Amino acid sequence: MAETLLLRIDGKDVAASDGATFAVTNPATGGHLYDVAHATPGDVNHAVAAARTAFEDQRWRGIRPRERARVLNRAAGLLADRIDVYARLETLQIGRPLREMRAQLARLPEWLEYFGAVAQTAEGSVPDFGAGYLNVVNRVPLGVAGLITPWNHPLLITMKKLSAALAAGNSLVIKPSELGPAVPLALVDLLEEAGVPAGVVNVVTGLGATTGRALSEHQGLAKLDITGGTETGRVVAATAGRSLIPVTAELGGKAPVVIFDDVDLEQAVAGALFASFIATGQTCVQGARVLVQRSVHERFVARFIERTQALRLGDPLAVDTQVGPLVSEAQREKVAQAVARAAGQGARVLCGGRVPRGAEYRKGWFYEPTVVGDITPEHELWYEEVFGPLTLVVPFDDEADALRKANDCPFGLAASVWTADTGRALRVADGLDVGITWVNDHHRIDPSSPWGGSKDSGIGSENGLDAYRTYTRQKSVVINSSGTPFDWYATTQDLRYS
Ligand code: NAD
Repeated sequence: MAETLLLRIDGKDVAASDGATFAVTNPATGGHLYDVAHATPGDVNHAVAAARTAFEDQRWRGIRPRERARVLNRAAGLLADRIDVYARLETLQIGRPLREMRAQLARLPEWLEYFGAVAQTAEGSVPDFGAGYLNVVNRVPLGVAGLITPWNHPLLITMKKLSAALAAGNSLVIKPSELGPAVPLALVDLLEEAGVPAGVVNVVTGLGATTGRALSEHQGLAKLDITGGTETGRVVAATAGRSLIPVTAELGGKAPVVIFDDVDLEQAVAGALFASFIATGQTCVQGARVLVQRSVHERFVARFIERTQALRLGDPLAVDTQVGPLVSEAQREKVAQAVARAAGQGARVLCGGRVPRGAEYRKGWFYEPTVVGDITPEHELWYEEVFGPLTLVVPFDDEADALRKANDCPFGLAASVWTADTGRALRVADGLDVGITWVNDHHRIDPSSPWGGSKDSGIGSENGLDAYRTYTRQKSVVINSSGTPFDWYATTQDLRYS
């Protein structure tokens, strides 16, 4: 594929106004995939204006929610037919194994279906305003929403935000990650084919510091919804805050996997492997800290290392590959440096910790799945999000110790608890300061189930009814139905008005 991907503004594919482009490469081979238009602030302005016009002329929000849901269901059908094409494109761009991409993308039509159903069934309310009044409260769309998305799940994260935003009747400007813009761009064609009017969904591709910044600073947005690193989230939320633009921010994580000694060891090892190394560890809910009860710690670690070393690294397009490359040279360097720093501070690299040898790994950004032990809060690695195939194993004594260690973290996105004791699972879930806890599982997601974290993991949540609500605002109409004349200035008597 050697082409230039263009911006999508007002239903048209357009080059950046200054003609600038950037290149997207294949992280498994280093090969050039395509050039992409690099939107200028002027292009971003143009996209926001087009979205605003589409909002004001009601071409989408003016359509009854039931009809919007029909369009979204049609889009879900088209998407289901294109999963194989999109999965391959995603793998080429970000290096995530094709088997994983297919599994993930096959779920995405559900987001369109779910939020279409929510839009159809959403109702206003009639608060008790008191005798002689009728108060009708409706929810209306916000306006133009800016969506800024990361590279690690390019379509999933776009879909989570877009489905809720569109179902509620908003217009959008999407700034996908510079590392994986192709599928979010292709999605606009699909949505328009399904019946979303041109101009409702616009895409500006570009780098974070330029195009992303221009979008996040745009005063014409009614909401900003970002998924990315915590530092990016802080900058974007602070900028939006100055303009009083509401922000949803799904940011970093360092999820603990808490394994008690009453759980089947093989299941626990399989679960921890899945948590730690799916997506080559490049996921916000990665099991980046495996906490294991001391009585089984040694046995667990031996088996965990054995299975980690057996993971098959390689060409992400091959169906038997289990671990692909990292997304970029910078990301691999970040992992390698984190491991070197931890080792220098006294932690022990139990397996991995190096670039794999072999001609097949020479061109891509591969790194061996790595397990680090003998790690304490004294080490930086205890706290920092690395975002790669790297996990820590840490022993704990009892429930209280497990909770102390699990919560000793700046992030609070997700955690998993592995135990055969339901009471314990509930107690630990209750004590964990995170947004999502899985019991005897990890990495599970559903459009109906809230996704968001505490602490440095962000603000607000995706999925579920709350996500839909945050793409609307309340509009209250108070009707005087008493028939009684009111004239405050005609009398000196005490009258009620508040
Ligand atoms: P990133 O912060 O580098 O980039 C995210 C997006 O923000 C990209 O589109 C980027 O171009 C843009 N951006 C960067 N700087 C910007 C700026 N100054 N102004 C406006 N936009 C800017 O993150 P990434 O490397 O793409 O993704 C990995 C991060 O995302 C990890 O920290 C991960 O934990 C997080 N993440 C969180 C979730 C979640 O649900 N909480 C899900 C996936 C990824």
